[in-house]
Amino acid sequence: MNKILRFILALAETVVNSARIEGDSIVVGVRPYKSRRRRCPLCGCVCGVHDGRSTPRRWRTLDIGASKCYLEYAPVRVRCPKHGVHVESVPWARPKSRFTRPFEDWVAWMAVYCTMSAVAEACRVEWHSVGGICKRVFDDLQQATGSARFDGVRRIGIDETSYKRGHKYLTVVVDHDRGCLIWAAEGWGKEVLRRFLRDELTREQRLSIEVVTADGCRWIKTLVKRWCPRAEWVMDPFHVVSWMNDALDSVRCEEWQVAKKAARAATPRRKGPGRPAAGDEAPQAAKRLADEAKAIKGSRFALVKGRENLTERQKAKLDQLKSAGSRLFRAWELKEDLRAVYRAKDAAEAEALLDDWLHRAAYCKIPKVVEVEKKVRRRRDDILRSISLNISNARVESINNKIKVTVKMGYGFRNTDNLVALLMLRCSDTKPQLPWKQKTKTVKAA
Ligand SMILES: [Zn+2]
Repeated sequence: MNKILRFILALAETVVNSARIEGDSIVVGVRPYKSRRRRCPLCGCVCGVHDGRSTPRRWRTLDIGASKCYLEYAPVRVRCPKHGVHVESVPWARPKSRFTRPFEDWVAWMAVYCTMSAVAEACRVEWHSVGGICKRVFDDLQQATGSARFDGVRRIGIDETSYKRGHKYLTVVVDHDRGCLIWAAEGWGKEVLRRFLRDELTREQRLSIEVVTADGCRWIKTLVKRWCPRAEWVMDPFHVVSWMNDALDSVRCEEWQVAKKAARAATPRRKGPGRPAAGDEAPQAAKRLADEAKAIKGSRFALVKGRENLTERQKAKLDQLKSAGSRLFRAWELKEDLRAVYRAKDAAEAEALLDDWLHRAAYCKIPKVVEVEKKVRRRRDDILRSISLNISNARVESINNKIKVTVKMGYGFRNTDNLVALLMLRCSDTKPQLPWKQKTKTVKAA
């Protein structure tokens, strides 16, 4: 029986002593092989025992059927000559974790591919403990690759993203060629970026970087020049389109206010409380104006989305705005045309499209759009250079959206490092492996 349990739970270097049922869980008593006992969790060397008395601990492991399963063992504290007193390491779990390795790998895999509620429901763990699990799994994966994970990176994008309702910032670095996140850290500013450029990259890696994209910040330009002398600095396409999206949202708010006021003015004032009397209802014109105001209010997501991703209902909403001759529709068209600049076949076509766009935007009589037009005009050469270097906005946009969704998922985490770990697991190409796909020491079946 013990051998079967050892095989089911894929326990390497471990002896199963006992098994019992407690409530709705199975508790399996285990101990490490003699050769694996009394080891420091940090360096793995065999150490002297600090104090012999210890209480049994439990580690949650993969479920057996529908029952939760725990491993139970009483670890001792060891005194490492280098690291001091620590609880001994056990072969089935990462240091300081109350979950086993296979269980953590499984939860981290779920967190990467499933929604928050699915993970919590399927794995039966609190969402905030998923953060710690992601951190440990990510640290393990990162240790395995070392600094080689930045090898061959040629074109990077540097960006900030906010969380906790804009109170805190994260710095993210994406690889334009692979379309994935390669580094993230808490904070935004010179110090954080310097940590990446100076401490994380080797000299060869810094020299191999050819293009750096970012928003207009000047200090980024200075830092990039200092640390990556061969890199060319260009404007990040994502920011250009996001200016236009912001302007579009402001125009939508203005239009909605105007439409709401018009609808209210057209509705006759009610004489008293209760339902309107016969002949006292709002006239047709007022109803139409109220509907228009409602359509504008509900058009937010349709406006921000790209033309190719619109649903039928959103298309209908835009058609309604178009037939009403709304300013909002014209602003949306201009946003789409700006995105089209980035899809141009070559630099010449992009230049023609951008110049045409600048001309139309300058005369569109929508103040918010004119503001964006001025910004874009100032950075025209930068924008065209990013197009000639073939940096696709679609890819930058998709990775930025993925980052935003993941940051929202990580709201329940108490620790920012855990959020960064989840972000890296979901958006970089360091992916956790399911326990049964890993090449670990196989456990003999008998
Ligand atoms: Zn040690």
